[in-house]
Amino acid sequence: MAAKIINGNEIAAEIREELKKEVALMKEKHGVVPGLVTILVGKNPASVSYVTGKQKTAHELGFYSMQDDQPEDIPEAALLALVDKYNKDPKIHGILVQLPLPKHINEKRVLNAIDPDKDVDCFHPVNIGRLVIGGSEARFLPCTPAGIQELIVRSGVPTSGADVVVVGRSNIVGKPIAIIMMQKGKGANSTVTVVHTGSRNMEAHCRRADILIVAAGVPGLVKPDWIKPGACVIDVGVNRVGEKKSEKTGRMVPILKGDVDFDAAKEIAGAITPVPGGVGPMTITMLMKNTVLSAKSSIK
Ligand code: NAP
Repeated sequence: MAAKIINGNEIAAEIREELKKEVALMKEKHGVVPGLVTILVGKNPASVSYVTGKQKTAHELGFYSMQDDQPEDIPEAALLALVDKYNKDPKIHGILVQLPLPKHINEKRVLNAIDPDKDVDCFHPVNIGRLVIGGSEARFLPCTPAGIQELIVRSGVPTSGADVVVVGRSNIVGKPIAIIMMQKGKGANSTVTVVHTGSRNMEAHCRRADILIVAAGVPGLVKPDWIKPGACVIDVGVNRVGEKKSEKTGRMVPILKGDVDFDAAKEIAGAITPVPGGVGPMTITMLMKNTVLSAKSSIK
């Protein structure tokens, strides 16, 4: 039987509706409006498009949102001073510095300068530490991994006791999703294995996964016979494999493929995310969720 297709656009829209209501209520009851600033250095077209998407969503949800554009040659000290200004601004609950930064700026230094309580991307070591400790210590969840967990849970896939195999160990996807899924609690409590380029028998690990999360950045890496029949497959990979003419605009647009051979895998899996339209739409939504959470905790 063909797999259930996990529709990231639909699930993201559902969460945004919930957030919209929460924002309106917070405004009405406490006079608090979630504030998000996105700092963009330079004019990298991909970064401009990401930041625009984040600002648009923040507006739609009723946030106080602002974009702070800075020139490509901004000195590191000036960028650090800007971050500090927003750290101290009570109207701002979330600070996002769009990556990558120009070469003359130490990215780590800038990200670590963000107040951990306003670090809605959840890149700060303090927040990663809180995430590892888990329970009430955890504050924000990193956006893409948090989106993955929502997709799994809202699709009704049982996680407690499930064998979860994560392909990839990056700091932004593989490691944090492994930590999230192993925590004791709802929507997690799984038995997690992480595989990477140093792993022996990667296929064998994948074959026993009830939930297979693939974040390698290698198109078509996971073959259909690596998938346990009925498993839930979350394909995080977004790989440009060529270009095609858009039917809507007539312009050339990239052809995107995931890390899983989707057409074949959907005949074996129980549930699967497409690329695009799976994990992608969740990331910005979880950034908004973190900003709402941050605003909420500012209420005395
Ligand atoms: P990354 O930093 O390049 O990490 C890739 C990981 O996959 C590494 O741990 C690497 O292992 C492992 N890997 C690569 N090739 C492998 C192979 N042949 N066998 C086993 N493991 C392999 O990538 P990332 O930032 O995590 O992103 C992964 C993919 O997800 C990319 O396609 C990216 O575009 C996509 N992504 C999507 C979203 C979204 O919102 N949809 C967000 C973030 C990322 P080693 O550690 O051993 O090198």
